[in-house]
Amino acid sequence: MIRRIAILGSTGSIGKKALRVIEVLNSSLVARGSSLEKEKTEYEIVALSAHSNVELLAEQARRYKPKFVAITNTDYTGSLRELVGDLDVEILAGPDGLTEIAQLDEVDIVLTAVVGAAGLPAVLAAAQKGKTLAIANKEPLVIADELLTATAKENDSTILPVDSEHSAIFQAMQSGSADEVSKIILTASGGPFRESSVEDIQNVTRQQALSHPVWDMGPKITVDSATMMNKALEVIEAHWLFDMPVEKIEVLIHPESIVHSLVEFVDGSVIAQLGAPDMCLPIQYALTYPARVVGIAKHLQLDELGKLTFERPNLETFRVLSLGFEVARTGGTAAVVFNAANEAAVQEFLAGRIKFVNIVELIEHCLNKHNVKRRVSLEELLEADAWARREVIECLKQKVL
Ligand code: MG
Repeated sequence: MIRRIAILGSTGSIGKKALRVIEVLNSSLVARGSSLEKEKTEYEIVALSAHSNVELLAEQARRYKPKFVAITNTDYTGSLRELVGDLDVEILAGPDGLTEIAQLDEVDIVLTAVVGAAGLPAVLAAAQKGKTLAIANKEPLVIADELLTATAKENDSTILPVDSEHSAIFQAMQSGSADEVSKIILTASGGPFRESSVEDIQNVTRQQALSHPVWDMGPKITVDSATMMNKALEVIEAHWLFDMPVEKIEVLIHPESIVHSLVEFVDGSVIAQLGAPDMCLPIQYALTYPARVVGIAKHLQLDELGKLTFERPNLETFRVLSLGFEVARTGGTAAVVFNAANEAAVQEFLAGRIKFVNIVELIEHCLNKHNVKRRVSLEELLEADAWARREVIECLKQKVL
């Protein structure tokens, strides 16, 4: 059997890992020589996309030989053409190029790892075509929540979470039926400021916010982990992905990042998924689902870990987490504004133009000013997204903070 894959965002942290996972799956295919049908599955990389990292995209095209490559920032189309001119690969450019590869007839699984709202039209297009969607970034489920889940349902498109917590929940959920679940517990590492008070975080630097104790991720997500915006978005994501009322979702700090999340059933049983803190495992599970095969992930040595700890998050330090629950309850366009305001604010923080604590202030400002709309189209979602970004810039111009 062959599973044909398109990776949206192949030069990012998740994209690179996914390629490595696929490479190992395919190479062990030869070594295994297994008679099991599931172990004979081959993974073919049909399409890759990047925003602007043409050098790496070209290198990947040379190594993995996809039929299509897409570059979303058209400033780089020319240099991509030059770099892969000798290869038998079709080049697509601009946001439409991304949408095009997501809909290709020769693709079964679309792995999406595009940071931000940029990948949204492509994800929706893939859902319309009934593709299996392996979603690694949070935005599709956070921003297009209702629209995406409905579109997927209508077109028999399966959504498989790659986010480690949601992959864990998805796996644990298989121990019972949805109506037997009493609670979903999302774990959070707590990031670099887990033990910090509100006072402590007033003057943290870019460097401090970027040094995550456990996970190795891109800068935007690392900052989101430091504010716990990451977890706030995951609450919204879980609410939509598992059709779970917000009241049944809880967040616990688990600094070791070994238990990736838990599901409590009505009888009191709690099913958890554990694994080394490495995205390779959730990526692989989404690609091989429902099969489990030998792969790249390191196996746990529980005796070496000794103990696993859990604690409640400090909602004063991590104010954005409370906002996340509120946004999930509100629904409509609240989540798109929440996410876009954060993206814009984090960009400003990374550029050294605002303080760490200003991020949540800007988000809160946008949420307060926004009139929530319900049952919206993609256009209206993107409008709300653009509004929040403008509002953040406007705030900074007028020195509202
Ligand atoms: Mg996560």
